[in-house]
Amino acid sequence: MSEATKRGVGTIGGYTVLRREPLERLEGAFIELEHERTGARHIHIECGDDNNGFTVLFPTPPRDSTGVAHILEHVVLAGSQRFPVHDPFFSMTRRSLATFMNAFTSADWTAYPFSTRNAKDFSNLLDVYLDATFFPRLEQDAFMQEGIRFEFETPDDPRSGLRYKGVVFNEMKGALASPAAAMQRAMGKALFSGLTYEHVSGGDPEHIPELTWQKLRDFHASHYHPSNAFFYTYGDRPLESTLEAIERNVLSRFERIIVDSSIPFVKRFTQPVGLTEPYPAVASEDNSRRSQALTAWVTVPSSDSFRLLSMKVLTEVLLSNSGSPLRKALIDSKLGTAMADGTGLQDDYKESVFGAGLKDIRTEDAGKVQEVVLDTLRKLAKDGVDSDQVDAVIHRLEFEKRERSNAGFPYALKVMFSCLPAYNYGGDPYASMNFDADLARLQQERSDGRWFENVIRTELLDNSHRALLTIVPDPELEDGKHKKELERLALIEATLSEPDRNKIAEDALRLKAAQDARQDLSVLPTLELTDIPMKFEPLAPRSTPIGGAAVDFYVLPTNGVTYLDIRSDFSVLPQEQLDLLPLFGRAFTQSGAAGQDYVQIAQRIAAYTGGVGAAAQVQSLAAVEDFVQSFVVSGRALDRNVKPFVEILADLTSRLEIDPARLKEIIAETATRLESSLANLGFQFAILLAQSKLTSEGALNERLQGIRMLHSMRELAKLDEQQLGPIIDQLQAIRTTLFRAEAMQVVVTCEESTVATVSEHLASLVKALPAQKEKTRSPKPPAQHPVPEARIAPVPVAFNVRTFKTVRYTNADAPALLVLANYLRDTFLHKELREKGGAYGGYAQASTGAGLFMLGSYRDPNITRTYDVYDRAVTWVLDSPIEAEQLKEAILGSCGDVDPLESPDIKGRREAVNRLTGFTLQEREKFKHRLLNVTADDLRRVTSRYLANGSGVQVTVAGADLIEAARKEHPDLFAVVEPV
Ligand SMILES: [Zn+2]
Repeated sequence: MSEATKRGVGTIGGYTVLRREPLERLEGAFIELEHERTGARHIHIECGDDNNGFTVLFPTPPRDSTGVAHILEHVVLAGSQRFPVHDPFFSMTRRSLATFMNAFTSADWTAYPFSTRNAKDFSNLLDVYLDATFFPRLEQDAFMQEGIRFEFETPDDPRSGLRYKGVVFNEMKGALASPAAAMQRAMGKALFSGLTYEHVSGGDPEHIPELTWQKLRDFHASHYHPSNAFFYTYGDRPLESTLEAIERNVLSRFERIIVDSSIPFVKRFTQPVGLTEPYPAVASEDNSRRSQALTAWVTVPSSDSFRLLSMKVLTEVLLSNSGSPLRKALIDSKLGTAMADGTGLQDDYKESVFGAGLKDIRTEDAGKVQEVVLDTLRKLAKDGVDSDQVDAVIHRLEFEKRERSNAGFPYALKVMFSCLPAYNYGGDPYASMNFDADLARLQQERSDGRWFENVIRTELLDNSHRALLTIVPDPELEDGKHKKELERLALIEATLSEPDRNKIAEDALRLKAAQDARQDLSVLPTLELTDIPMKFEPLAPRSTPIGGAAVDFYVLPTNGVTYLDIRSDFSVLPQEQLDLLPLFGRAFTQSGAAGQDYVQIAQRIAAYTGGVGAAAQVQSLAAVEDFVQSFVVSGRALDRNVKPFVEILADLTSRLEIDPARLKEIIAETATRLESSLANLGFQFAILLAQSKLTSEGALNERLQGIRMLHSMRELAKLDEQQLGPIIDQLQAIRTTLFRAEAMQVVVTCEESTVATVSEHLASLVKALPAQKEKTRSPKPPAQHPVPEARIAPVPVAFNVRTFKTVRYTNADAPALLVLANYLRDTFLHKELREKGGAYGGYAQASTGAGLFMLGSYRDPNITRTYDVYDRAVTWVLDSPIEAEQLKEAILGSCGDVDPLESPDIKGRREAVNRLTGFTLQEREKFKHRLLNVTADDLRRVTSRYLANGSGVQVTVAGADLIEAARKEHPDLFAVVEPV
């Protein structure tokens, strides 16, 4: 396209179309617009996808650590001019079929994205999002509830002790407790001193109390303005109607202003620096090897798509797999066992940061870790970067560009994040999204000579804007912070007059009354039950046995990508091998095979596939209390790489070679990763432990992913290389048991043109497997003892879970239980646990597959209060009237749960599992039909049967102080109290 046609392609309403470019990866177009009068920017991705996406983003660089941008994000969602209810955002989640709704606060921007496949829903959500962001009420009560307020320990007793309360206040206490958060903080402080990034953008609980309601409102007025707004839309909906709605509802009511949300470039150091930051740890543990060291540099501007691409490729070459030179050198040094938090390239700063380092080191070895990084880089700059490794990374980029998957996150929004740094920091978003031109230039530069060697020199070795960041465990940290907070509150309390005290108590009561007050939600737009699609699309595989293995092909438009799963029933493994299964999953993809070492295997995986993974899965049966146990190897590759892709799988399944030294590294890395993410795993651990007390399926899951798995990993980490010999024999025995032709089910999702090639290569894979006769199944593990249990973890918050046993999917009560979960969460728990209790989340969840019902709290400052809320929740459903509107919302919310967003890669896999477990099309349609007809009486009936008269088990994972305090109140609350 010529320069002339690129610029000023026309106008739409009050917008000028700045640019329209073809977007081959989506068979669509990239359209960039600017609103004439206000200067609002807009990018639209025109394509055939019916999952339409929207985002409005504002640059919001903070000037302190009060969390102003983050708290504003919460308060903005608490009511607006057109929608004056106190939680329109949460209310909309149950009046919508959104495939995604959320809000994010990053280090320097705040974004409000959603996506949906329903046209009416898109307009509804657009109205609510626009009004929330541009015309929020920003009421003082919302600021106090979401941000920070004073409250007495007993809210109406001014003598019970002054405390801080607030949702973000607690959310950040939990969020900042992990080592990863400490590393992030260290990075900001050391590398960006004097700039916005030196602050904790989410808010530091020590500084959150400095924020005032007025400062929050000022921040909104100066940042949430069209002149500072970046809009993004995606999908098959006509752009004109979206722009018209934005203009009518928002832009027509503003004039252009000058907003300075720019961030200066950092002033480069002349000398590298160092910084040490503590993170919370448990005193009883051996903390001598729990530090981390990271060497980090500020590198290229994130807005420069070409230089950023070049840095991205280099980063992948250095670090992406176990054969990558820098990762390998670090692990081989034996100074630590896993990559440090912050390793990799971070492009969510104005200038991107490259970091590399190790976890699980002795504090005094930090300097040695840095020497390994520098030495390796010097060597690569001198001897050259392996060009096969660069080719493998470029192949990966091509793969990512081709794949249109909704796995994990809607593709509609993945596209936005791919161009966000360029869009937000003033670069060329089209170039970064459609990187053909940048890639061609990179290939040219490479062929001209030592491109990456020079990048290593200029951006890293010769760049003195470098910091050595060390984070160290500090068992006293949380206690110290807690004491300091109480002392500070005592000082404040001493200055309070009698009227001050009464005011705080009155405020608390007023807030509580406002939270309890009935709201008129009829102002909010909504979908009706008649808007729900009732039919599921049938999908049938083409089944062809190949050499004894069952093979199912799902032929779908995958855009040139082949997805392949090898499933094998692991119930034939003897009990003692079950605990080794998580390790086997890791060793399977990270070892050598067929005469090649792990480095060569890692390079083949990188060069020919989009990734290969392996893990055990437990899937519930729809009709009976039983489950399928599958070990699943999953991989994906471009169609043209099917041959080398299947050859890799063949080598792994039939000729895996596990070496003791390598296995030791894998175990150490896994154990280290688990230990350093305990703060984030608390909720998952609590849920799994509770489930293990109710069903055999739960007990198995706990073994594979819960605290028991952590304990197995800890035991394995104690073994030396010699002792690993018998373990390797067991792992090999697992392999030969699982990979027998007769035991395998292969699921392939690909396009018609690839079926023959895949079949041909699968035949050789199956042929290479050893012939072995039928195995008998082992008995299933029994459910554990149902006593209430508390586990101590290094977090200043609690995760409280109570779980009940219910019925399976095909039982007529199952749909009512799903509706009950939505109803309880939205009407009662959200209010009691989040709004009043200050927990980040309060949930009810019905696992209709596994036949379980859970009440849970996330990042919760309370334990006993929360269990009381669970008791009250049950009586509340039984004794209070259930309104028709709320029932309808709960049903709508449940419909989203049973009809999630799919893409070809997910569809084939899901159908294969549905067929194995009895979730047939007929059963799913029957379930949905019942769901739409659930009544208030049904809710009361299932509450009475399964919750009031059922037996619940409870598990808390929390910090030691919280557990101790809870036991003082209720000595018999837990039968077992142990560290995680
Ligand atoms: Zn938040």
